[in-house]
Amino acid sequence: MAVPKKKTSKSRRNMRRSHHALPTSSYAECKNCGELKRPHHVCGSCGHYDQREVVQSGATAA
Ligand SMILES: [Zn+2]
Repeated sequence: MAVPKKKTSKSRRNMRRSHHALPTSSYAECKNCGELKRPHHVCGSCGHYDQREVVQSGATAA
């Protein structure tokens, strides 16, 4: 079995992990309520998608 000859230093390890960061997710404004939402997703606050209501907003609460 291949075994590393030297212990990887914290510096080396962290340099390797410099590419591991998660990408920042993009947001778009909801055309109905103006709330920020994920693109191509139903709005979480008003339940609208493509300028029509597809999910009843607050249906579970009221
Ligand atoms: Zn909305």
